[in-house]
Amino acid sequence: MTVTIPEVISEPRILSERLAALRRQGKKVGLVPTMGALHDGHLSLVRQSKELCDVTVVSIFVNPTQFAPGEDYEKYPRVLDADLARLESVGGVDFVLAPKPADIYPEGFDAHVHIGGVTRRLEGEFRPTHFDGVALVVLKLFNMSGADLAFFGQKDYQQAAVIQKMVRDLNLQIGIRVCPIVREADGLAMSSRNKYLSPSERAEAPVLKRALDLARRMIAEGESDTGRIKEKMRELIGSAPSSAIDYISIADPETLDELERVGGGAVILLAVKIGSTRLIDNTLVPSDI
Ligand code: AMP
Repeated sequence: MTVTIPEVISEPRILSERLAALRRQGKKVGLVPTMGALHDGHLSLVRQSKELCDVTVVSIFVNPTQFAPGEDYEKYPRVLDADLARLESVGGVDFVLAPKPADIYPEGFDAHVHIGGVTRRLEGEFRPTHFDGVALVVLKLFNMSGADLAFFGQKDYQQAAVIQKMVRDLNLQIGIRVCPIVREADGLAMSSRNKYLSPSERAEAPVLKRALDLARRMIAEGESDTGRIKEKMRELIGSAPSSAIDYISIADPETLDELERVGGGAVILLAVKIGSTRLIDNTLVPSDI
């Protein structure tokens, strides 16, 4: 096994130069954007990139523009050394971009990216400035890397839909791959924010996945009324004493428009606070479940 120690770069310009040289040699570049505190979910994206690309770049950047005042920007876990050790142990990562906010948003920076449509509901309603910040940083990462493919997780389903819409609407020359959700043994979707949960909250958190499973079972047994499905999900989640539901949505997988009846495929999305930690999860329901 060859061990690759990634080159850690903080300056976007240097990364651009390195990658431009490799692309001139015909190398296919894969980009994995992250905010760090890496877990097996992130590593699954890295593995996909290694499989499909010649060069893999992981970015680790807690992006201030996607956090609203009062959200967890300051307390978000920053553990760069541990992240680099994890990436070394996986191997095959060529570059890590680990910039400071001023490397991405230097003095005088003043640009905005707004994607409409799929950004309006769900996360967009609860975090109105979030997707503008995501689209801005992701577009910058696409441009500075010139990547051929970028890898995102289904865990952030609406985010992946926003990125895909940005690529379509702005004619970006990059392919997007959306990778399956990686879960803990008890079903909780892996997330850097799971670290915030107290032991008792952690024990309650798998209720999100159980509610998604319940919905899938109801649909498989012939239920198509989304109101009834959501009511049962709400009851189940409500049985976890620290839970507070932001939304439960059963939506069209492309447009994210809310469905009254499940017929030709759907995505079920949840945002639930467990104590003060806000968790999201989702599941895709095929039309032939
Ligand atoms: P984050 O560091 O939370 O911004 O996530 C970086 C990327 O990893 C995003 O594309 C996420 O959707 C993806 N990701 C996060 N958690 C998981 C997971 N449990 N399974 C698969 N992908 C994930």
